[in-house]
Amino acid sequence: MSAPSNPATGPYIDPRVTVLPRTVQLTALHTIMRDKETSRNDFIFYSNRLIRLLIEAGLCLLPFEDKAVTTPTGTHFAGKEFSAKLAGVSIMRAGESMEGPLRDVCKMVRIGKILIQRDESSPSKEAKLFYCKLPVDIHERHVILLDPMIATGGSAIKAIEVLRQHGVKEENIIFLNIISCPEGISNVLTACPLVKIVTTWVDDSLNNHKYILPGLGDFGDRYFGTEDDQHGTRERTYSLSSESAFAELMLKEEH
Ligand code: URA
Repeated sequence: MSAPSNPATGPYIDPRVTVLPRTVQLTALHTIMRDKETSRNDFIFYSNRLIRLLIEAGLCLLPFEDKAVTTPTGTHFAGKEFSAKLAGVSIMRAGESMEGPLRDVCKMVRIGKILIQRDESSPSKEAKLFYCKLPVDIHERHVILLDPMIATGGSAIKAIEVLRQHGVKEENIIFLNIISCPEGISNVLTACPLVKIVTTWVDDSLNNHKYILPGLGDFGDRYFGTEDDQHGTRERTYSLSSESAFAELMLKEEH
């Protein structure tokens, strides 16, 4: 797996990875989101702006066909038209933050959900599937997979495996995330070589708790207002090991 070619401008050597151009605007949005003093209100507002940019970039990787139209001046315009069936699939819970911006851009898009957590009861702490609900014709669709952070890539790899088991072609999956790191990108592309990744920023590394550095702490906690420490370095407290724990989580998320 190649390293980022030029972190100052964004492009990544691997053609399967699209990194948004590092404009001053993008950097300013990241500055607000990464600042530990940023309020929840601003965190949500600016992450929605970043996610919109990310989604627009991801849609460029979908199939388009030529379409000619006539403008009100009576002149032809040689344009393009989106030509595939699409679905969004969010990896719960942080990925759910990306569903609204996806709907803003793709009217009536179908949305599936996958819940994966580390299984703390197993010695290997492997990523385990707890819940999955997908459109019935998901196998016919291009899938925009949503998760704002790629740390180790374990959840994404499991989610892609689940999509493949439901008949989705790996080459039809576009994985969108706000912040990634070289380790996570490498793990995802090694396990799922045909997937495309679109990210707004490739950070430096992971700490011992598998948080991205410099990162922004726990995205889900900051977005949903469930954080209990200012620095985002605590271990996850909602790792699930039983169905009753899952039901409890679902109830908490509904309120
Ligand atoms: N998920 C997060 O929310 N933050 C990280 O740094 C890594 C994974």
